Amino acid sequence: NFETTVASLSRPEVAFSDIGGQNAAINELREALDFIKSFDKIKEMGIRPLKGILLTGPPGTGKTLLAKAAANYTDSAFLAASGSEFIEMYAGVGAQRVRKLFQSAREAALKMKKNNAVIFIDEIEVLGGKRGSTSSHMEYDQTINQLLCEMDGMKVDDRVRLLVLAATNRADMLDTALTRPGRFDRQVKVHLPDKDGRLEILKLHTGNKPLAEDVCLDSVAKECFGFSGAHLESMANEAAILAMREGSKAISYCHFLEAVDKVMMGAKLDRKPSA
Ligand code: ATP
Repeated sequence: NFETTVASLSRPEVAFSDIGGQNAAINELREALDFIKSFDKIKEMGIRPLKGILLTGPPGTGKTLLAKAAANYTDSAFLAASGSEFIEMYAGVGAQRVRKLFQSAREAALKMKKNNAVIFIDEIEVLGGKRGSTSSHMEYDQTINQLLCEMDGMKVDDRVRLLVLAATNRADMLDTALTRPGRFDRQVKVHLPDKDGRLEILKLHTGNKPLAEDVCLDSVAKECFGFSGAHLESMANEAAILAMREGSKAISYCHFLEAVDKVMMGAKLDRKPSA
């Protein structure tokens, strides 16, 4: 239900240090956010403030985590919605929901006594596909027009300053009007983690779990090529479940190997050998 999504604004507790294997993306994002944080300076220099950042990359690599960490880093209220929530059978509903999302973000920030709000739109390609294309129709066009209109209306002197972060794994499908200067004019690429990245993520997701002495996380990371952060989280959880079922007090290397197989079977991964 869209109303409840908008209402369930959260105080995101995610920090950049909770995100593994994405140093390049984090640095790029932080650089853009630092720019926003030095707001007075930007205004003095007459610089157009950044309104939108597009996070692109495969599913489960941490785009939502990055958006939450961005809100935390900039001390912003955080509101999330998914592109599919804007698509309705009835004309005008999508556009109305976009309006409501922006309005709710402003209200949330005021309620939380914050000057900033981050709006996160996941799967933006559903809402922001190329206008007039065969995959698009009138209703989509109205919705995307409303989003563009809201972003164009964001002013430097607004009582609540908004930043829109949007995520997609189909950047090629987006309407070019979205990526024009003054809209989503920054793109941060998020990649599947390499071996070192996978190790970082594994450390994050096993920090709260008892590991047996035979566990070498570096070897586990090697076994997991092609895995996203979401796969790694699920694998670590699965390994703990397997250990518990056996009555073990700690997770052994064999539990991890079994969990890797399980995740691989479920995920039908496109496992290209990686670093
Ligand atoms: P989607 O495109 O499917 O929306 P996403 O890129 O937004 O996915 P997230 O929702 O951020 O991915 O990640 C899902 C879960 O996977 C996270 O809650 C976290 O447990 C784990 N995860 C993903 N990426 C990372 C990462 N880089 N570091 C640590 N955990 C991660």
